[in-house]
Amino acid sequence: MITRSTPQVQAIATDIHTAPHRDWKSQLAGAVRDPLELCRLLGLSDEWQAGALAGDALFKVRVPHAYLSRIERGNPDDPLLRQVLPIQRETDSVAGFVSDPLEEADHQPLPGLIHKYGNRVLLITSGACAINCRYCFRRHYPYADNTPSQHALDDILHYLNERPHINEVILSGGDPLASSDKRLEQMAERLTALDSITRLRIHTRLPVVIPDRIDEHLLGWLAPLNVHKVMVLHINHAQEIDDHVIAACQRLREAGVMLLNQSVLLRGVNDSVAALARLSERLMDAQVLPYYLHVLDPVAGAAHFDISDREAVALVEQLRKQLSGFLMPRLVREIPGEVSKTPLY
Ligand SMILES: *Cc1c(COP(=O)(O)O)cnc(C)c1O
Ligand code: SF4
Repeated sequence: MITRSTPQVQAIATDIHTAPHRDWKSQLAGAVRDPLELCRLLGLSDEWQAGALAGDALFKVRVPHAYLSRIERGNPDDPLLRQVLPIQRETDSVAGFVSDPLEEADHQPLPGLIHKYGNRVLLITSGACAINCRYCFRRHYPYADNTPSQHALDDILHYLNERPHINEVILSGGDPLASSDKRLEQMAERLTALDSITRLRIHTRLPVVIPDRIDEHLLGWLAPLNVHKVMVLHINHAQEIDDHVIAACQRLREAGVMLLNQSVLLRGVNDSVAALARLSERLMDAQVLPYYLHVLDPVAGAAHFDISDREAVALVEQLRKQLSGFLMPRLVREIPGEVSKTPLY
């Protein structure tokens, strides 16, 4: 398998450097999906292969080259590598780590619609992601059954129409920006045509994973929307923010989009005061405000990323001494059945 795909992969990697503005769909299609190829491209020794294969069998590998290019080759401790490389410990079964930690299945009035919090609903816009993050709480989510079809969107609009206290729609996923602009444009236009909807929020990792996703086609439907536009990015480490990401953020801001960031506190990735402080300062470079720092949702396969609440609170207490108040993320946990995120500090 490795031998067959090698020449093609190298061609793509070179292409990234010489032609940074390749269209996002081909970058997505060219993402690395073979665990052994991932080990090889990362320059890892053979000992990592068995774990990569075992983890991939539970949750597929997916890493676009634009993200790979920010990882230091030959360093198994690289904070970006740890987010994307499956390891043997994903196969451990750990008490309390389950397949649907947020019990979202209980809060779906319609397929693809999650309504847990009063004024806002979350729409599972696309089952796909541009990257598969090993700690993801949706790693076991039955996407195929839950992505709204055109018909389902009619039902969702009806649901919103009957509940005018809902003023905000959150496009989530998967990654909503993995959908085509045509589909997103249709959805956004129909949703924001409701008088009661005054905000459209998009939760996405794509501007970070493939910054070229923020292209003229996307801005073409997003900029003219006549509601407050908020994008919550998902960045866990300062090293994820390169010049392409900063440029993508600038294009979004110019289109009138307010930019926030949420991170997950992850052992071995960002579990130090220094890493968290650097992340906030780097977000400032991109003019993105830190919003949430989530403690890990206890999803099966991700226990090795876990940090106790006590340790998390201690980190954030120290962090507060180093950062301007507006660069402090709120440390929160999602507790099933609660009507908002629960602050831990
Ligand atoms: C996190 C979440 C939201 C958004 O919550 P905010 O605190 O407003 O960011 C909305 N709906 C669901 C189901 C969520 O999990
Ligand atoms: S939903 Fe978000 S965290 Fe989960 S795999 Fe997709 S991009 Fe990563």
